[in-house]
Amino acid sequence: MAKIYYDKDCDPELIKGKRVAIIGYGSQGHAHSLNLTESGVDVVVGLREGSARRTEAESSGLKVMSPAGASEWADVIMMLVPDQTMADVYRDSVEPHLEPGDTLMFAHGFNIHFGEIEAPEDVDVVMVAPKGPGHLVRRTYTEDSGVPCLIAIHQNASGSAHDLGLSYASAIGGGRAGILETTFKEETETDLFGEQVILVGGVEELIKAAFETLVEAGYQPESAYFETLHELKLIVDLLYEGGMSWMNYSVSDTAEYGGYTRGNRIITEESRREMKKVLDEIQSGAFANEWMAQAREGAPFLLEQRDQNRGHQVEIVGKDLRKLMPFLDPKEAE
Ligand code: NAD
Ligand code: MG
Repeated sequence: MAKIYYDKDCDPELIKGKRVAIIGYGSQGHAHSLNLTESGVDVVVGLREGSARRTEAESSGLKVMSPAGASEWADVIMMLVPDQTMADVYRDSVEPHLEPGDTLMFAHGFNIHFGEIEAPEDVDVVMVAPKGPGHLVRRTYTEDSGVPCLIAIHQNASGSAHDLGLSYASAIGGGRAGILETTFKEETETDLFGEQVILVGGVEELIKAAFETLVEAGYQPESAYFETLHELKLIVDLLYEGGMSWMNYSVSDTAEYGGYTRGNRIITEESRREMKKVLDEIQSGAFANEWMAQAREGAPFLLEQRDQNRGHQVEIVGKDLRKLMPFLDPKEAE
């Protein structure tokens, strides 16, 4: 059984004795900053001059400095800018201000694992990665619960990196839900694999293919939307609550039989071979190199796909249907 820590295993005083810089105020940054502050930790947010997030952070009562200023002031620096710009921010604003005994923290292992960032040897390098989006890290904290976190140690120059990491994880609420021990390699590779194969890439392609199949066969787009996108949440909730057996117990026997006999015609031996190739590309660093090269050019392919996706019929139909669902607060991407 993997090692999991809870609040009782964490010393809340350790992180309170440090000055913590949170670089970036996006999804994770706002949640960490506010949770740490409410846990009694001394926090400064590091943001660029003219950042749109500055007023938001300040009006929440947080102190804001430049990324360089915050790094200079702090003993613990948590990197919460987008992964593809993190190495630049590190080189320009963080590295010049690292001192022996400081702790560099990450919420995802990408930049350390793929060698984009190489920290000096006399600095601790720790990962505290919430396994959930920032708005949940924040909301669950205010509800006296938390999002499970991963902890990993890349460098332990001080000998106390692990205890400090646990203290940080506990202060953002992770110790209420569990803090799982892992490595930078495992977190990075499984995270990328999960998002590519199922959570983001796999699910999106399944939705689009199933939706298009129904619409091309002459069914109403509204019916196709409910069946292929809307209902997915209800199924995922069952999986989340009780695994596959509970999901199959809750759906009809007809659905369960259809699933056993047809599901493996959709995810075939060929799909499994392709999954293995996707994993190989992650492990070899080929995916990381490809994405960093794209990001340096302004991510043209990502922007083009994002645009195309927004024009997909399932998105257009969905937007109208969601307006008619009083129980949800419809969201729109910026
Ligand atoms: P985000 O895109 O939501 O926010 C990034 C923040 O960085 C913004 O405040 C932006 O203004 C700021 N920023 C961008 N460029 C900057 C620069 N050059 N200098 C200073 N600030 C800059 O990012 P996020 O999703 O919170 O991701 C942060 C880290 O957390 C990443 O390592 C990511 O992998 C990890 N993570 C994210 C999630 C998630 O659900 N979003 C979950 C777990 C881990
Ligand atoms: Mg992830």
